[in-house]
Parts: sequence; C-alpha cells; structure tokens
Amino acid sequence: MILGILKETAPDESRVAGVPESVMKYVGAKIKVLVEQNAGLAAGFDDESYLKAGANITSRAEILNSADVILKIWGIEEAEISYLKAGQIIIADFENLRDLSLLEKLCKTGATLLALEKMPRLTRAQNMDILSSQNSLAGYKAALIGLNALKRAVPMMITSAGTIAAAKALVLGAGVAGLQAIATLKRMGAVVYASDVRAAAREQAQSLGARFIVVDEKADFEAAGGYSSEITPEYLLKQKELIKERLKQTDILITTALSGGKSAPVLVTSDMAAQMPFQSVIVDIAGGNVIPPQNRPDIVFIQNKNMPSYIAESASRLFSQNVYNLIMQYGGADFKFVDNDEILSALCLCFNGKIKELKQ
Ligand code: NAD
Repeated sequence: MILGILKETAPDESRVAGVPESVMKYVGAKIKVLVEQNAGLAAGFDDESYLKAGANITSRAEILNSADVILKIWGIEEAEISYLKAGQIIIADFENLRDLSLLEKLCKTGATLLALEKMPRLTRAQNMDILSSQNSLAGYKAALIGLNALKRAVPMMITSAGTIAAAKALVLGAGVAGLQAIATLKRMGAVVYASDVRAAAREQAQSLGARFIVVDEKADFEAAGGYSSEITPEYLLKQKELIKERLKQTDILITTALSGGKSAPVLVTSDMAAQMPFQSVIVDIAGGNVIPPQNRPDIVFIQNKNMPSYIAESASRLFSQNVYNLIMQYGGADFKFVDNDEILSALCLCFNGKIKELKQ
C-alpha cells in the first residue's frame, strides 16, 4: 500500500496529518509513505526528519496520482479533484465541506472519503478520535492565549510591596476542551468557575478545582455519546442570569460550548459581555458562544475555532497517532474500507461513487 501525506493549504492551518514518528511505524508495517515537500514544516517537522523516518519526499501531484490512501487534516481541495481516482481512500476532517455539489464531484471520482470528525463515541474508538485529541489541546491553548492577553498577574501573590488577588476565570462548556482549560487555569493559580448543562460535567469540573455554577439541581441535558441534549428555554434564561452576574467579576472568560457537538449556542450576549471588568479577556473557541461587547475596546475578544493549529506540533502528533491507530485497526498495509463495520461505516461519506450521507 502507498500512503500519501499532503501539505495543508488553508492559510490558518499549521498542522500535518502524519508526523515522522508515525511514518516510521507505517514503514515498519510495510507501508510505503510519500510526503509532500514541506508538508510538516509549519508544525515543526522538516523534510529531513521524514526522510530519516523512511518516507519519500515528493510533489503533491505525484501523491494525488499514486497514493492508495491520502491523509490530510482538512478534506481535499476542489482544484485537486481531477487527480483523484477510483479506489483511493481519503482520510481527513471533512467538517468544513458544506457544499453538496463539491461532495458530489468528489464522490464521482470513485474515491472513498472517510470523515474523521464522525468517529463514533465508543470506548473502542477513543484512540482514533480526533475530536477528543484536538479539543484537549484546544482547551489548554485557549487558556494560555487568554492568560497571556491579560494585563494582570494570575495567581495570588503576596509580596513586600503588597498583595495581588488571584485572577478570576469562567469556563462555559466543561467537556473535553473546557476541562483542559479549567485544569490549565487552575495550574496557573486562577480562581475558576465553570458551567455546563450535563450533570456529569459538574463533578468533573469540581474534581479539577472549579466552582460550578448550578442552574438547576435536577436538570441533566445529556444525550448519547456525551453530547448535550436539547435544553429548555427556562433553563437557558436562568443560566444567562447567573452567567451575567458572574461575568461582573470575571477577568478571563473561555467558552467551548457546543450543542450536540456541532453548533455553538450564544451563551453570552453583547450586553452580558459588557458587564465584564476593564481590560478583561474573552476567548471563544466554539466560534459563536459570545457576541462581542459594543463600545468596549478595552476588552480583548478572541474568537477562533481552529485553536489546535496554534499548538501544531503536539496537535499533529496526536492527530497522526489517531489516524495511525485507525489504519492499523483495519488491516495496516491491507487497509481497506468495509461497509459492514460500525466504525468505518460511521466515518464513510462516500464509497464506490455513492454519497453515503448528506451533510447538513
Ligand atoms: P462538545 O464539544 O459537544 O461540547 C462541549 C461542552 O459544551 C459539552 O460538555 C456540552 O455539555 C457543553 N454545553 C452545551 N451546551 C451548553 C450550554 N448551553 N451551557 C454550558 N455548556 C454547554 O462535547 P465534548 O467536549 O466533545 O464531549 C462531552 C463529553 O463526551 C465528554 O466529557 C466525554 O465524557 C464524552 N466523550 C466521549 C468520547 C468517547 O467515548 N469516545 C469521546 C469524546 C467525548
């Protein structure tokens, strides 16, 4: 089998889908690896390190033409569809592929598309789950970026010149990313508050030292796989009131809340955000939890859904290991798509020229 690792083309993407350490393991499993020139450079892996791991460095066109399996962080570009051929397997995150006609064109090539963001939340799939690995790092990095933007010290400091109170943080959404943000903020000495709609998240956040904002003692909005279920309007209203109060004393707000794992609910309106203290910091990695405050240029507002790209070396390592686990789980050098497997069929967007599932 020939495996190809392509360079990312999106301007804000620094990760690479395969790192030299995985290449070495692929080669050891009798898989020939082709890597596009400079594919890993932005993540900290130069061509030399891939050559040492046993890869061949080559052009994008050659990989698109000859690889049986192509690895990317994000799906394939439109301009490259003409290179693809029947039987090829593309493994990537296809979350950004919203255009149905593009998906149809991709499928018409006869290539099989495996969408990593659709990994089922099963215990046996955990080591192949890019959402978990990337979100952990995203939560950690969001906390670091937010703390760095803060103009004040984070831990309580008692000095001969006086005492500085600890900074106060609020984390909305205490899932994979939120828990890492809480842990990072705590390690830095902040007083951390958290809110989530799942009851299980309360205990997890508290075990990391966060003070949990309880909206309703009895409510638990958890659906299958750990995703949040539909939340009642009464709950959301009460949650907004409690958050608004807390924001008055919040130096740094990190938001990670996704509903059903997909869309970002607005948890903090512009008016609510305007309650925050002078020169406070907001980092929204869900991409829509916060509407920025009007007329508050002192507040630092960072909204970025692609936080893993800011920690590209580590994020690439974990992404690469997730994909390696998937390939080895399903045959290694004999990797192929089989329709009757629970995990592979959940990932499959198209097979044999047919679209398996329409994107929303
Ligand atoms: P997610 O990315 O879908 O959402 C992030 C968090 O936002 C969740 O905790 C969610 O409950 C919360 N949220 C949604 N609406 C909210 C609101 N209005 N206010 C406050 N919070 C809100 O979820 P996630 O972080 O990927 O995962 C959640 C849980 O799923 C994890 O804690 C984990 O236990 C489980 N999980 C299991 C697997 C597996 O079994 N393979 C993989 C990943 C996650």
